[in-house]
Amino acid sequence: MRLHETEAVVLRRKKITANDCYLTLFSRSMGRVEVFARNGNHPKSPLLAGSQPFVYGLFSLSGSKAFQLRSVIVHDNFYHLRSDISTMLLASYLAQVVLALTQERESNKVLFEALVNSLALLEKFPELGDAILVHFYAVCLTQLGIKPATEACAVCSEPDAPWFDVAAGGRVCQEHQTDQSFEASEQIALLDSALSLRVKDFLNRHSQEEELCSLQRLIEDYIDYHLDTQLRETRNQLQDYQ
Ligand SMILES: [Zn+2]
Repeated sequence: MRLHETEAVVLRRKKITANDCYLTLFSRSMGRVEVFARNGNHPKSPLLAGSQPFVYGLFSLSGSKAFQLRSVIVHDNFYHLRSDISTMLLASYLAQVVLALTQERESNKVLFEALVNSLALLEKFPELGDAILVHFYAVCLTQLGIKPATEACAVCSEPDAPWFDVAAGGRVCQEHQTDQSFEASEQIALLDSALSLRVKDFLNRHSQEEELCSLQRLIEDYIDYHLDTQLRETRNQLQDYQ
């Protein structure tokens, strides 16, 4: 029996019988994997504690094509993420972003660490949720290789480029703006700092909630356009739920 040991976060749990469940893990070394957890729901099972959403731990899996959960050492279950509904929804949304943006069995250590770090920060500083999400998006943009042009016009490199154009790939100048472009100097400056600063330094900027939310929408539209995802819609659904 082949055993794999990897640090991972539980992105999703699907109950299949009263006792068993499927977990979707985002792991440091194996990327996103589906894992069968026999007795993962059973109150007396040692796997129960490790089979909850957001749990971060060391997971032992067996199998090669289909994985089965053998044991979990829980590093952190981020218990306090559940203490208020908006924090919990944001944590669930981070998990959904990873589900939407990653391919099965494609590991990305930087994204993995950003997810663990974001969950830890969100648990500790729930009031900074909007900034934590913006920074997480910035890591996604860089890691997925779709970072928008923030320094100059995406088409001609003209530095005087106060418009943003999703299809053109970022900032655009007077000459290259289209009907779809919009004036976005503030969002571009904020995005630039999210892309260049480490998360703690970005959080210490204490950006306005309104600016952060407007940048979130810009990034959601940008990712949805370039990767054919539905982040904006997923986000709206979660906010309606709230
Ligand atoms: Zn231009």
